Amino acid sequence: MSKLAIFGGEKAVKTINPEMERWPIYTEEDEAAVVDVLRNRNMSGSDITKKFEREFADWMGVKYALGYNSGTSSLMAAMYGAGVRRGDEVICPTITYWASCLQVYGLGGTVVFANVDDRTLCIDPDDIERKITPKTRAIMAVHYLGHPCDMDRIMDIARRHGIKVIEDVSHAQGGKYKGRMLGTIGDVAGISLMTGKAFAIGEAGMLVTNDREIYEHAMALGMYERTDEEITCPDLKPYTGLPLCGYKFRMHQMSSAVGRVQLKYYDQRCEEIRRAMNRFWDLLEGVPGIRPHRADESEGTTMGGFYLPHGIYVPEELGGLSVTRFCEAVRAEGAVKCLPGCNAALHTHPVFQTADVYGDGVPTRIANSDYDVRRLDENLADAERIGERVFRVPWLKKFIPEQIEEYANAFKKVVENYEELLEGDPGNPKTIGAWYRNTNEK
Ligand SMILES: *Cc1c(COP(=O)(O)O)cnc(C)c1O
Repeated sequence: MSKLAIFGGEKAVKTINPEMERWPIYTEEDEAAVVDVLRNRNMSGSDITKKFEREFADWMGVKYALGYNSGTSSLMAAMYGAGVRRGDEVICPTITYWASCLQVYGLGGTVVFANVDDRTLCIDPDDIERKITPKTRAIMAVHYLGHPCDMDRIMDIARRHGIKVIEDVSHAQGGKYKGRMLGTIGDVAGISLMTGKAFAIGEAGMLVTNDREIYEHAMALGMYERTDEEITCPDLKPYTGLPLCGYKFRMHQMSSAVGRVQLKYYDQRCEEIRRAMNRFWDLLEGVPGIRPHRADESEGTTMGGFYLPHGIYVPEELGGLSVTRFCEAVRAEGAVKCLPGCNAALHTHPVFQTADVYGDGVPTRIANSDYDVRRLDENLADAERIGERVFRVPWLKKFIPEQIEEYANAFKKVVENYEELLEGDPGNPKTIGAWYRNTNEK
């Protein structure tokens, strides 16, 4: 192939079709739905939200859905619903966004971090087993970057130990595990629906569950008037009408209105994304140094919206070329979204090491424990370096074969000419990836 673009050669990606990466897709129908809410002066009610919840629950195939103002609050409510209280431990993968677990501080609980599998980038079931203590109340199963967790093993571990499973479906709305919708396998799920996600309706989140008790306790945490009619649990009944923990968590009705429209087209739009992304990865099958981060679809397991797709990088197959240099060369070819790393390991962040958020005189992570949970972080060294073995790829929304081929060619060309990049490879920086977004992004 021709000379690498980073050395002045022609780019592999000739022209970029703006439709290719445009997301979310909003039409006049979404606009009309928002204007309608505005004209009806009905932004803080819950009638539209309740309709959205019903439709969302039917789509997922669950009994209950509860609309939140963010994925963060839906996950906090899921924890409360699952019974997480003072001193309890939630086991969470260390490679995820902080909002999978940091809210547990607000419930008086703490986080125990687990390793991730280096192929799926999802929580490693073997490490869950190792991290279970008498204080473990729940496992946070994050379907990371769209990839479903190994739910059979996670559910088996949870049932054997009598602990709850919370699914964080913020990266994987509409994805399936062995034919079952993600979010319906554990005891309860929290799902971000904010603008950056695959299911994008503004700032919003959804909690789903089949468990009435979890549903009511989640509702009691941060909902107002609707608890009057819906609470039946005797421990909650005397306190209906106001949020027990003082939070106000209900979904903005403009988001609910957009959500109802988005839901109608979501599966169809995701199907196109899935075709495009699978074609992209199929074209790169067998290319040394890079592997897809995608589900094996043979058993009915899928990636949903393929949120923020990544690849697995194997530097040993490319003479030790750093992922940083590799991505730089691919970007020069015109695939501008190729970035090294993913989320950085949460257990190393000061908020999980030293921060005394509530003034206890000790780090909050251990304030409610009778031992220092931080010592359980010891075996997470591989996760701390995961950024050296992961890279982001373009998130393709349209099935445009010629364009997909150009993107794939950018990666192929760099792999074929990797030796030219070894000289002058500055290596990777100390940390790759970021806590809340990829700071390598320009
Ligand atoms: C985005 C995200 C959240 C939080 O959702 P918000 O809607 O931003 O509050 C939680 N978990 C994961 C894995 C996320 O990516």
